Amino acid sequence: MDSLAGKIALITGAGSGIGRAVSLALAREGCRVVLAGRRENRLARVAGEVRGHGGEAFPVACDVGSREAVDALAKSAGRVGVVQILVNSAGIAPAASFLEMEDELLEEVLRVNFMGTCYCCKRFLGPMIGAGWGRVINIASTTAKTGYSHTAAYTASKHAVLGLTRVLALETARKGVTVNAICPGYVDTELTRENARLMAAKVGATAPEVLERFARTSPQRRLVTPDEVAELAVLLAGPASDSVTGQGINVDGGAFMG
Ligand code: NAD
Repeated sequence: MDSLAGKIALITGAGSGIGRAVSLALAREGCRVVLAGRRENRLARVAGEVRGHGGEAFPVACDVGSREAVDALAKSAGRVGVVQILVNSAGIAPAASFLEMEDELLEEVLRVNFMGTCYCCKRFLGPMIGAGWGRVINIASTTAKTGYSHTAAYTASKHAVLGLTRVLALETARKGVTVNAICPGYVDTELTRENARLMAAKVGATAPEVLERFARTSPQRRLVTPDEVAELAVLLAGPASDSVTGQGINVDGGAFMG
């Protein structure tokens, strides 16, 4: 299978940020995109953008942290066809010191970021293997490979996503399926801006100043754009990446080299 044209891609967290950018980029390559996420209005907006460029989009509201909701998502997506490309981008990143973080929030981060990825992989990998071709692309983070203060739950969830990626790559290596993770640094999205706003209040700086601090953690002295992450997802989904599997690829301007 060569080009991406006509393939069915399912993207979680598709209503904003990286998920939106990946959805638009895959649609531009000719994929029919199933857009999954919590906020119906956001999904409808992205679906409108895809259709505006002549693409096909199928928005489905879904909380990926709910097994039942992901079952329902699989059913809805099944009406479009076999999902050949799965991009797990749904995620949350509340910042707090470990001792300050309520157990409920800790569980919620692991439920959405890690279990959500597991639930989607469980439901969509089998049919990919059955069809003899598939791509799973997990949006992890550089926190999948290192630790940053005030991100215990998030860092643990992303380490878990990268671990899952590596094992699934081994278990699908001879079945025509590749499983990779993209590990972005600070990306210019709502998630980053919200964290900057919360941090600003704590450290007595303005949100733009905190964003500037985030940018300065990169040797390139800038935030990554969602489109840059999306272009790597397109590359990983395409035929040039047939032998790339089990990898966690950093997109962070050189901030973390490992
Ligand atoms: P974002 O907030 O714009 O996107 C996250 C999307 O996930 C939102 O549309 C949100 O509604 C959706 N979502 C959240 N919980 C969900 C749930 N339970 N079920 C379904 N959808 C849910 O932020 P983003 O920066 O685009 O984040 C996308 C992914 O990239 C996340 O997994 C995040 O951890 C990862 N990431 C982001 C950065 C960054 O700096 N922004 C860096 C590294 C990794």
